[in-house]
Formats: sequence, structure tokens, C-alpha cells
Amino acid sequence: MGEQGFWHENESYIDSVLNKVNMLAEDTYIYILHLKQNRAWFSETAKTYFGIRDTYSTDHFEIMRGLVHPDDWWEYEEGLPQRMRGENLDWELCVRMKGVSGEYHMFSIHTGIVTDEKNAEEYLLVLLHNENVLPRIDALTDLYSQARFTDDIEAEIGKKSPFAVLMIKLERFNNLNIIYGNDFTNQILKETALQFIYMMNENSAVYRLDGPKFGFILRGCGREKLLDFEQALREKLAKGIHINNTRVTLKICAGAILIEQYEGKADALKSKAAYALGHSETEHQGKLIIFNDEVRTSKNVDLELMKVIHQSVREGCEGFYVEYQPIVASETGRIAGAEALVRWRREPYGIVPPGMFIEWMETDPGMYELGNYVLRTALGETVGLLSVLPEFVLNVNVSARQLEREEFRAEVLRILKETEFPASHLCLELTERCRDMPIESIKREVEFFREYGIRMAMDDYGTGSASSGIVLHAPMDEIKLDMSFIRGIIEDTKKQAMVRSIVEFANNSGMSTCLEGVETEELQNYLRSYRATWFQGYYYSKPIEIKKFRELVQKISFY
Ligand code: C2E
Ligand code: CA
Ligand code: CA
Repeated sequence: MGEQGFWHENESYIDSVLNKVNMLAEDTYIYILHLKQNRAWFSETAKTYFGIRDTYSTDHFEIMRGLVHPDDWWEYEEGLPQRMRGENLDWELCVRMKGVSGEYHMFSIHTGIVTDEKNAEEYLLVLLHNENVLPRIDALTDLYSQARFTDDIEAEIGKKSPFAVLMIKLERFNNLNIIYGNDFTNQILKETALQFIYMMNENSAVYRLDGPKFGFILRGCGREKLLDFEQALREKLAKGIHINNTRVTLKICAGAILIEQYEGKADALKSKAAYALGHSETEHQGKLIIFNDEVRTSKNVDLELMKVIHQSVREGCEGFYVEYQPIVASETGRIAGAEALVRWRREPYGIVPPGMFIEWMETDPGMYELGNYVLRTALGETVGLLSVLPEFVLNVNVSARQLEREEFRAEVLRILKETEFPASHLCLELTERCRDMPIESIKREVEFFREYGIRMAMDDYGTGSASSGIVLHAPMDEIKLDMSFIRGIIEDTKKQAMVRSIVEFANNSGMSTCLEGVETEELQNYLRSYRATWFQGYYYSKPIEIKKFRELVQKISFY
């Protein structure tokens, strides 16, 4: 047949051949210059990596100038024509180039010329090879490497179906190293790797991590499968592996994370699995620890969670949202308003209620941003309700970190203006946690906001000593009685006396009252005799997202 007919006539066919070739060449990117036309062709891989828009371009020069590090530009600009002329060939051309992520990597550049029938130069073929990528294969065990582990997790996240990441560590490996030496332990690693490879199927992959650690990705894997798999690993290693006629039995510690759906980065998942592995080693004698369980049970993980939450606040309150719990008129049960309650949601933690972070967060300067975020979001989301419920009042919790800042006053007014929310329909709730602020400055702030018609409530009244001080000195509009006084009140005469006297005190001092924690109809009916102004509690509704709250407002009023 000869050479004729080998290539398809269609140009787009050559395109796909080139693109395929480039896909096979890992960490290398192709572009081709048509010298006579002064036009460039970029492969799909190059386009994706460097964020280049078009396949064909007449301003490839400008494109390259944007990608090559400014300090290396002269090298590229001079080096490339030199290589084309066949000069300087024994010296590899290397420049830093920026990927779409914005990060610079070192690239070696290789070129080739294709000439036409008359031997005139027609195409310049340029291969850009990323020299900074870590090896994908572990040299000792021939398993996939740490770098590949990260990439594969990333790819798995993208598929949006369940999987598990498991990390294990061979126990007491350092001791073996000391006793038997490096060669022997390297043999162990190789042999262990081999055993693992036998255990893999199309839904699982094994990776060598640093030292005596191995990673696994288990696709379509839930809790049970994970437990089975981990058990099988243990059994295999407990049977022992043979090295130079010596049988070595191995024990492991193990940490894992189960993923249903996850939006974040692979690194975050890896560090969570690593966290669980660490716990397995230090606190659970090597038993498999699943990160998802730890978050709910261990105090220590809260620290980790705090770190992530803190980071979220810094990233513009990413992951935070607001829920609304109705506040009803005690006599009629009709919705009179709502309290805005912040939540944080992110995989793999799920929905985290403020009880888990607000006290801690309130010691952090970031609370200022978070508090203002809640205010802005809540006003923006509920302002529309005023047309349906003209009496609607929105309660928003305010922390000392907000109140103590000079700029807070202006910020509140700005948010009201931006959201077109009428000031007299906003109620700011202060809590005991303002106790560290001088009472005089609390008073000043309360007075300031009231001048604009904003209502001020004392939250969790009666749970600490600060709240009575605040109520006595600052002109508050409302007292919210803490749930602890309401729970069990039907059988508790002391609570009854207390609530009665607080409501009376409020009435006599021109303040309204709200009783929190109304969980049942029975409790509601009983509490009516106290003549408090408002009720709030699960009987009416748990805190719900704005969409549901709107539906609730449309549908129901309570009697
Ligand atoms: P809080 O201001 O006393 O809010 C009422 C809490 O009681 C809410 O918990 C609510 O879900 C819960 N609750 C309401 N009705 C019932 C009931 O009938 N039974 C029971 N058992 N619980 C009920 P949540 O949302 O977990 O909030 C906890 C605390 O976190 C709040 O207590 C408040 O002090 C603080 N918080 C919430 N959002 C914010 C915010 O945006 N800023 C500030 N500074 N604090 C907030
Ligand atoms: Ca509150
Ligand atoms: Ca409260």
C-alpha cells in the first residue's frame, strides 16, 4: 500500500490524532506553528492546562508571553529561534510557565521542524514538558505514588458518586528498620505491595504513600464494604509474608473517610483520612477509625472543624446559610416574626448547628464578618415577607464582637438601606455573652439602635447574671426567656413562680416577652395563662430554610 492512503484527507481527523497523541504523553503539551501562515494550533490538553481559548490562533506570541514567566521570557524569545536554526541544541531550553491554576511550573521545551515538498520549513512542532510533576509511580514498590493518589481522588470527587478513601500504616515499622535494616524493610514493603495488588479489582486501587503507609480508593463503597475490605487486609497481613525464608506478620492501623458527594479538594479528604489514621494509631490501638464518625463523637475533631470553619469565614462566609424559626403571638398562635439562626454546611461534616461553633466563634474577630453576613442575608431573604405579613418582625442574634466595633452602627444602617428593610421591623438579640463589654457601652449601643426604631431584645434571660444587669441599665424592648425555665414547668412550681415574676417584671417595665422552647400543644395551652407576648419553639416549627419558611407563612397560622 505504501504511504498513500494512510492519513485521512479530513483535517479534523488529523486534529483528533494529534490530540490523542498528546493525551497519551503525560505532562507534555503540544503546540504547532504554521510558519508560513504564522498561525498556531494548540492541542486540547495544552488548552486545558494553560487555559487557552482557541485551537487556532494568530497571536500565539502574545499567548506565550502571558504564560512564560516574565524573568524567563528573553530565554524563550531567543532560545526558540536558536533551536529552530539548530543552534544551542546540547543545552535544554527551560522556562517557567503558568498553568490555568496560576501556578508556575518549570517546562522543558523541545522542538521539531516539518518541511514541505520543496524543503521549505512549514511547521514548527513544540513540545512543552512539565518538569515539576511528581512521579506517578513509586520507585520501590511499583505502586501508584502519592501524587497519583491525589489526582485519582480528585477524579473520583468529580464523578459525584460514593467512594471511600482508606489509609493504612504498618505498625512498628521503625522497629523493624532498626533491627533488620533498610534492605529487609524495603523487601517487606515490596512484598506487601504485591499482596495488595492481588486484592485489587476494577473498583479499587492501591497507592504507596510516605514511609510504611498505603492508600486505597474504593469506588462505590459504603460502610459495610469498607469494613469488609479492611478486615481482609488485616487477615492477609496477619497470615504473614515471606522474606528470605522468614515469615513476618504485620499489623496495621487504619483511617478512612466515606464520601457520598463532595465538592471540595482532594487534599482536604486526604488530610481527613490521615487524621483518622493518626487517631487510630494514638488512641484506638490501630482499630479502623472512620472520620465521619469521629466528627460527631470526639472533642478533638472539633479543633479541626474549627479550623475549617474559621477558614470558611475568611473565604467570604462560604458554606454558611441562615434558617428561620417562627415566633408566634401567644394568644392567637399566628406568625408574628422569625428568628434568624445561622448554620454551616460542608461535606464531609454535613450540617453543623451553631451550638458547635458559635461560642468559640464569638471569641474570634471573624465573628464580626459572620454576624454581618447573617444580618445581610436574613434581611435580604425576608424583606419580601412584609407584603404578606405587614407586622412581621425579624430577630437577628448579635454578638459582642459586633456590638463592640465602632463601625457596626454604620454597617447595620447600611444593610438596612441596601436591603430596603424597615428598621422598625428588625429586632437585635443580645445574649449573656456580651457580659465582657462594659455595661455603659452596651447601653450606648442599645440607645443608638433604638433611636432608629430598631427593637432590642435580651436573649436567654435568666441563664446568667449579666442579663439582668443589661435589662436594668439599657432600655431593652423585649425579654426572651430561656428554654431551661420552660422545660418541665408544668410540674415545677419554682419555675412557674420564676416565669410569672419575670413576665410581670417585663410588663411593668414596658417590655414584651417571648417564651422559648414551646415544644408541645399541651405546653402552649398551659403557658397561655402567663400572658407572655410571644412563643417560639418546635411545636410551631424547627428552624427551616427561607423557601420552606415562605411556604409556612403562606399556608398556616396557628390557633
Ligand atoms: P438562641 O438564640 O437561644 O436560639 C434558639 C435555639 O433554640 C436555636 O438553636 C433553636 O433551634 C433552638 N430551639 C428553638 N425552639 C426549640 C424547642 O422547642 N426545643 C428545643 N430543644 N430547641 C429549640 P440553634 O439554632 O442551635 O442556635 C443555638 C444558639 O446559637 C442560639 O441560641 C444563639 O445563641 C446562637 N446563634 C445562632 N445563630 C446566631 C447568629 O447568627 N449570631 C450569633 N451571634 N449567635 C447565633
Ligand atoms: Ca437568639
Ligand atoms: Ca434564646
